[in-house]
Amino acid sequence: MGQENNHWSQLWNLRMPKRIRCFMWLLQHDRLLTNSRFHRMQLRFPFCHQCEESVETTLHVMRDCPLAKVVWVNKFRARYWEVFLIVIICNSG
Ligand SMILES: [Zn+2]
Repeated sequence: MGQENNHWSQLWNLRMPKRIRCFMWLLQHDRLLTNSRFHRMQLRFPFCHQCEESVETTLHVMRDCPLAKVVWVNKFRARYWEVFLIVIICNSG
């Protein structure tokens, strides 16, 4: 728990737009409205619309989907990418 708070503090103190920090909070707390979440509410099929191969979980959307990998590598600045991966990896187990 302490390590998680430390990563969150590092993330929150980065100089980036508040909307990105808020998005990261949603990500860290698994609050993104993914198809798997909608599926639990019996509203959609759980699979990813982009690759149609996997259940669309937060990790799939952000890390594992082939489209996500291309987007993040091309759009995310390197120093944010490292923090992003630390938060994702620490919360994926
Ligand atoms: Zn996908």
